[in-house]
Amino acid sequence: MSPVPDIELRGISKRFGNTVALSDLSLSVRRGELMALIGPSGCGKSTLLKIVAGVEEQDEGELYIRGVHTRDLSTRARNVTMLWQSLALFPHMTVEQNVEFGLLTRGTDRLARLERVNSLLNLLGLEGYHKRRIKGLSGGEQQRVALARALAPEPNILLLDEPFGSVDFNLSLMLQAEISRLHKQLDVSFVLVTHNRAEALSLADRIAVMRDGRIEQVGSADEI
Ligand code: ADP
Repeated sequence: MSPVPDIELRGISKRFGNTVALSDLSLSVRRGELMALIGPSGCGKSTLLKIVAGVEEQDEGELYIRGVHTRDLSTRARNVTMLWQSLALFPHMTVEQNVEFGLLTRGTDRLARLERVNSLLNLLGLEGYHKRRIKGLSGGEQQRVALARALAPEPNILLLDEPFGSVDFNLSLMLQAEISRLHKQLDVSFVLVTHNRAEALSLADRIAVMRDGRIEQVGSADEI
């Protein structure tokens, strides 16, 4: 395993008005690791993901992605993608258009886009879904399209914000298996936000327990 962590947060603080969302938080995520973030609602989990993705900026503290300080990295060069709880798919576009979206904005040529879309749809068991519209897909299929879209730009880091939050129990078990399989297959570190302790314990290499904008404990399932 590379000694340079994929993500290193040092002394990160973030306030929204009078609300302290993150308070002098430090955490590092190793190369290729699946790290779960657990903690009660409002403890700062989503804010932490957004700072890593570059959607929000910290007030204080330093963030390094694969050893490079983010002041020296554009948001795109961080090569971090995020799977939102809402999925944020484009409902009127086809599966193919959704999956290739991040590649279009990066200027990838048509042939390379097509190859990448094909390989991701195969990887996620969505062969032949290219021209299907999002609106006509089941919840589980939409989740898999959202995963394919997040993986399309070949991110170094994939952030997942409660990806199983809005689906029923059986589907959530299927998706957990999917995430676990993808993680083993790809050289990508995953940070998974969840409020479900069992899910974190079964999926993660390590778990970070958050409370009041800080990390309370970090360790393997056994240690926690
Ligand atoms: P979690 O994901 O653990 O539920 P969040 O990171 O969403 O927690 O929120 C942490 C705290 O920051 C909460 O008190 C929340 O209300 C506040 N917060 C988050 N985003 C904003 C925002 N854009 N404006 C104001 N307050 C916010």
